[in-house]
Amino acid sequence: MRRLTLAAVMLLSACSAGPAPSEIIPRTAPVPQPAGASTVTAAPSSTAGPSPSCDATASLRPGPLPAAGQMPPGSTMERILQRGRLIAGVDQNSYLMGFRNSFTGELEGFDVDVARQIAKAIFGDEKKIQFKVVTSAERIGVLKSGDVDVVVRTMTVTCDRLKDVDFSQVYYQAGQRVLTRRNSGITGVESLADKKVCVASGSTSLNNVVNRVKTTVSVPNWTDCLVMLQQGQTDAISTDDTILAGLAAQDPYTEVVGARFTEEPYGVGIPKGQEDLVRFVNGVLERMRTDGSWSGIYRRWLNTLGPAPAPPVARYRD
Ligand code: GLU
Repeated sequence: MRRLTLAAVMLLSACSAGPAPSEIIPRTAPVPQPAGASTVTAAPSSTAGPSPSCDATASLRPGPLPAAGQMPPGSTMERILQRGRLIAGVDQNSYLMGFRNSFTGELEGFDVDVARQIAKAIFGDEKKIQFKVVTSAERIGVLKSGDVDVVVRTMTVTCDRLKDVDFSQVYYQAGQRVLTRRNSGITGVESLADKKVCVASGSTSLNNVVNRVKTTVSVPNWTDCLVMLQQGQTDAISTDDTILAGLAAQDPYTEVVGARFTEEPYGVGIPKGQEDLVRFVNGVLERMRTDGSWSGIYRRWLNTLGPAPAPPVARYRD
């Protein structure tokens, strides 16, 4: 304390000799928002209005899986095999699902492991994979442009998205909840009617809350929402329980509250017109379900969500 006082006196006398310390930022200075943050007043027009109705989670039945390294001639998988690597769109900002391990620089997580299983089934080597990092809003675009072969990135299967892309069978069943600061008084989505909530643009999470909360702010990445929560710029974050668990693990002053209020079935996104790849990926997911690798991947990443549930039951339309 004495040392602090002495330091303060020295600072004062140093200052009195020169100009006022204009570089001292007043505590009331506005906190900058994350790049790309914007206030949203309605669901984006592409998803506004009545959604087309469809049996979204029913995918295409797999045939027998070809042996790794021997894909059927002329198939999408053979093209990938000849290229020498699978190109997968993943996240690098969602701890537990798709994130960069800062010690190794490698991408890791539940979704990353699922993508590696697809590479392993094609090549017999899970390392024959190139990751392209995509935000929530970029997922549909990279599939439509053919920049990636698959997207494995907490992507909810919806009828709306099925207009633009295809999906595998459901490989994980998530649900939307709320993350807030501890002791905020917020107990779930019902508490948000007069609150500000942060979501990622291009997510189903945005559409699910925009009409239930006072203000919705959208940002490119879920970690941008965590920064806004920590800086007091938002009252809550609302998205899938998987992503919220990863955010909560990074900040002990936050907690996930309230029950799930939506169903978010995750599918592997695949460009339209590649039925063979949809059936192949479904074959890989079937095998992961029966050989125990799905449960192993769950235990590796999602144990904080509770003991491994049974993998989602596959549903097929033909
Ligand atoms: N599952 C939701 C979605 O597909 C939210 C997850 C995310 O944005 O990554 O939009």
